[in-house]
Amino acid sequence: MDAFYDEGTLVAVLTTQPLDRALDYKAPEGGCWQGAFVEVPLGPRKVLGVVWGPGRGDFDYARVRSVIRVLDAAPMRDELRSFLERAGDYTLTPLSAMLRLATRAPGLGDAPSMRKIYRLGDSEPERMTDARRRVLDVLSDMGGLALTQGELAETAGVTPSVIKGLAKTGAVREEEAPRDTPFPRLDPDYGGKALADDQAVAAQDLRAGVASGRYGTVLLKGVTGSGKTEVYLEAVAECLAQGRQALVLLPEIALTAEFLTRVEARFGARPAEWHSGVTVTERRRVWKQIAAGGAQLVVGARSALFLPYRDLGLVVVDEEHDTSYKQDEGVFYNARDMAVLRASICAAQVVLASATPSLESWANADAGKYRRLDLTSRFGASLLPEMRAIDMRAETLPSNRWVSPSLQSEVLARLQKGEQAMLFLNRRGYAPVTICRACGHQIGCPHCDARMVEHRFLQRLVCHQCGETIAKPETCPSCGAEDKLAAVGPGVERLAEEAAELFPQARLAVLSSDLFGSARALKEEIEKIAQGGADIVIGTQLVAKGHNFPLLTLVGVIDADLGLQGSDLRAAERTFQLMRQVAGRAGRAEKPGVALLQTYQPEHPVIRAILSGDEEGFWQAEADERRAAGMPPYGRLAGVILSSTEVQEVFDLGNAMARQDAPLRRIGAQVYGPAPAPVARVRGRHRVRLLVKAPKGVALQPALAEWAAQFRLRGELRMAIDIDPQSFF
Ligand code: ADP
Ligand code: ZN
Repeated sequence: MDAFYDEGTLVAVLTTQPLDRALDYKAPEGGCWQGAFVEVPLGPRKVLGVVWGPGRGDFDYARVRSVIRVLDAAPMRDELRSFLERAGDYTLTPLSAMLRLATRAPGLGDAPSMRKIYRLGDSEPERMTDARRRVLDVLSDMGGLALTQGELAETAGVTPSVIKGLAKTGAVREEEAPRDTPFPRLDPDYGGKALADDQAVAAQDLRAGVASGRYGTVLLKGVTGSGKTEVYLEAVAECLAQGRQALVLLPEIALTAEFLTRVEARFGARPAEWHSGVTVTERRRVWKQIAAGGAQLVVGARSALFLPYRDLGLVVVDEEHDTSYKQDEGVFYNARDMAVLRASICAAQVVLASATPSLESWANADAGKYRRLDLTSRFGASLLPEMRAIDMRAETLPSNRWVSPSLQSEVLARLQKGEQAMLFLNRRGYAPVTICRACGHQIGCPHCDARMVEHRFLQRLVCHQCGETIAKPETCPSCGAEDKLAAVGPGVERLAEEAAELFPQARLAVLSSDLFGSARALKEEIEKIAQGGADIVIGTQLVAKGHNFPLLTLVGVIDADLGLQGSDLRAAERTFQLMRQVAGRAGRAEKPGVALLQTYQPEHPVIRAILSGDEEGFWQAEADERRAAGMPPYGRLAGVILSSTEVQEVFDLGNAMARQDAPLRRIGAQVYGPAPAPVARVRGRHRVRLLVKAPKGVALQPALAEWAAQFRLRGELRMAIDIDPQSFF
């Protein structure tokens, strides 16, 4: 049982303000529980805080101020408090910033807002109309249950004024009810499918894990379409049956729409949702109901991990390798790793699902830290696509063309059979570079060291780093030459232009995140395509994930070499994952699929591994290389990003940090850099990076903290530390 503090007792309150410690306050009238959400005075302001523990008492009692009030929210549980502490220690993030992640629901302290609901009254109105009759019929069908005005008006097919009128006569009772109502109950036995053999084995294993009531992590690996979702929904069912809460993390909002329908089909009702598209009032409802136990299942983006679950029993991380689980701004954390941490604190199970796991998870399973379950075949008749390379050295292509004659004729063959083809290019916009043919100047962003990308659809040049847009100039900003600016290289919009010329009779659909105003518009387009509303789908990374296109039988990868350029440690892994995922889009239904990879280096080991389908071989080889180099997951890395408006200042600090590295050397770690960050200037701030490499198993975080504490950040200087960085060159 948590501690209770009587009125006047000193309590330490952690606030979301950037202070380095919790502050002492007196418990308010009526006392407060440990973990209580409170409002406290801070200088002239009132701020949100959480009672973190007993006060320190190192301040004159008479001058200690009182907690203003205890908010109407369930106290934060011990489990969440220790999760925030440990996650903060791991990511070297101040506790106040961790608390901000856990209190991202506006109006937590407000009284629950009210709305009007209606039930059947006990008198008949004097004047009866058809519309009034329908309202009364609907309500009497509800057997005493209430409906909101909107629900009632829609079901009865009347305007709200009809309901208002009936309420005046007393035939309908109008009441005020709190808005933050519980979510409909989910039924674990509602709509389960008969599972295939390997699915049943995996589901049984997951169910047993959940039923054990202990912590455990499972890597659920299976090619796209093998039925992983169906399997982990069984683990969710077990969790619900145990009366505990489940969380399913998904990488992208676009995915949840299709997913929610599946959840509803399985459990008979929709789960709670948590992502950027959720309204402010709904967020507050979700937050409160999760704490109160009125939400059994949450489907959400990475930040759903910081919600105040009353009893979390299962976390599923779908597409666990997805880079969007890593937050690279503010608090640097990887939701996959944090899911494992939280589960280990609250005795929950974690399911990491992927067709192409991260090397980290693969290695953890290999080392026996995670269990591993494999689904080896695709569900039902669908087969894995055949994969082949198109050797671009042997193709003749006019300039400014990217679809090879071989690929063109394959696409034509699909079109003639009434099947769909997809052209994949992981580049948004029309052209990545705009160059002046007179002087060679390339148009760059005024705030960043990044090139501006032409977007014809928007009729602007856009910086993909900071979002700055400018109208495409008529004359070269450098030499003033007229009509000399030329687009260089392809983006999806340009590819669509080429496809329209090559296949004039085909209906094209372009899927790129910037072309849709909302997640809903995107969802509608995806559904239209799935039903055969397009012959050729042209898309970026967005199409690689999760969507079902049953008529699609050919995927053409325009530039399979793209991801292999540059010197990123994870380049091979990423390319491998992306190509496999894209290829997985083909042949999802009864028709077998083909994936064709246009490449200039068909003998590259990564391309060969993709084509041969020898996944274990690929991972083994990657693992051996990383082990030999002492790189993650066989060694530890941390990135340090320094930034300032003054370029000299950042380099001076970077150099000083590289020199004064004693705390790091003591644990056997090395510092590399300072070097300009990949984009050396963002939003007008100059950025340099240092990279710290340490052996596995040393206490890296305390050493980093001691090292960083040697330097004072004056003026405009900022330092961010990124533990386990995803990209760092
Ligand atoms: P994954 O998550 O591995 O990509 P899904 O779970 O989405 O695979 O399954 C692929 C398709 O097969 C989906 O349309 C799903 O509804 C269907 N499916 C999977 N398992 C079954 C089953 N046991 N019975 C009927 N349909 C299934
Ligand atoms: Zn910019």
